[in-house]
Amino acid sequence: MPLYLPQFNLQHLNTLAAPAIAQVYVSVNSAADLKAALVFAREQQLPILILGGGSNIVLRDHFAGCVIHIQFKGVEKVGETSDSYLIKAQAGEVWDDFVSYCLDHEYWGLENLSLIPGTVGAAPVQNIGAYGVELQDVFYELTALDIKSGVEVTFTRDSCQFGYRDSVFKNALKDQFVILSVTFQLLKSPKVKAEYPALKQALSRYSIDDLTPELVAKAVCDVRQSKLPDPRNIPNVGSFFHNPVVSQEQYQSLTERFPDIVAYPSQTGVKLAAGWLIDKAGWKGFLDDVGVHDQQALVLINPNRLMGDKVLALATRIKSDVFDQFGVALHEEPRVYP
Ligand code: FAD
Ligand code: NAP
Repeated sequence: MPLYLPQFNLQHLNTLAAPAIAQVYVSVNSAADLKAALVFAREQQLPILILGGGSNIVLRDHFAGCVIHIQFKGVEKVGETSDSYLIKAQAGEVWDDFVSYCLDHEYWGLENLSLIPGTVGAAPVQNIGAYGVELQDVFYELTALDIKSGVEVTFTRDSCQFGYRDSVFKNALKDQFVILSVTFQLLKSPKVKAEYPALKQALSRYSIDDLTPELVAKAVCDVRQSKLPDPRNIPNVGSFFHNPVVSQEQYQSLTERFPDIVAYPSQTGVKLAAGWLIDKAGWKGFLDDVGVHDQQALVLINPNRLMGDKVLALATRIKSDVFDQFGVALHEEPRVYP
């Protein structure tokens, strides 16, 4: 039977360290606990917030509802082919612990996704990605609980509708499912991916034949630690905005005005580096009660551990400046509650 805690401060459970109070908080350690908590919230007519590691949410204000913290753990090998293993992880596993576990067991493919905060269960929601790899590249299937019916459903890669930092769970099926477990297809023989510029640079002293997944994972961790603020010291939610994708025409006109603009081809147009736009608009290193990180302008920081509305107010000012200067709309990446 899960324990329902009233008036619970979520400050230590979100990486932005916003001191928001949940009307009710419940930690669930099994699918049975989760089902009981969903029934409780329905009976009490409380809105719910499914919480993982709290590294991709902004708590704008207190939450007048029930926060359900997904904590069930476990990893198992559930199948194999001639060249791959199917590894199933429960939603409450800490993502980076799972990556380390797979490295230790020589299940290859997650190296580039080292050190991303959060849980396994939240990873498909955002189709997490970094250093040239996305979750969908190693995804096999997931199981999820239909919140309304209580029925467990299996989602294939196609039914997840993965996109750039996007999935069906942010769109058509938003707030309708709780992810219970994710199964990954991981390689038996390593296949190193080290073309991403910052990674290539960090590994430049090695010849391509000497590269191992362990070296890649270490380089990813080193680059991340040198550039990104550790939320335990400087609260943040990673990239605050998506990299905007613009048309070829808009990109051409921007390059005429800004020849040094940072951009990459994408499937749907040209992807602009949002960090470059924010930096160019003069915000990098800005610090008032909240601020913009001085190494990466895409990361907003909350050093004084204030409520999320303060950070959102800064985000609004940045968006407005970027739009005025470049005619490009930025959109927040983390989910805002309430
Ligand atoms: P939470 O913040 O707890 O939740 C995020 C959303 O997912 C919420 O809407 C929540 O309701 C929903 N959710 C959580 N668990 C479940 C579940 N089991 N079922 C259904 N819905 C669920 N992201 C990247 O893609 N790449 C990066 O390189 C990266 N680097 C980061 C670096 C830092 C320093 C930080 C702070 C964040 C970074 N992020 C990155 C963002 C974040 O870590 C990821 O989005 C991560 O997957 C969020 O996991 P979480 O468990 O913390 O999710
Ligand atoms: P970076 O290396 O300074 O690069 C800036 C941006 O340029 C990135 O957003 C990246 O897009 C893009 N980029 C660089 N090289 C690219 C290439 N060869 N092809 C396509 N796009 C390229 O970025 P960073 O801030 O240090 O982050 C490094 C990696 O970690 C990135 O993949 C980033 O997405 C990820 N990260 C994500 C978060 C988050 O919260 N979402 C936080 C920290 C880091 P992509 O973002 O598409 O890769």
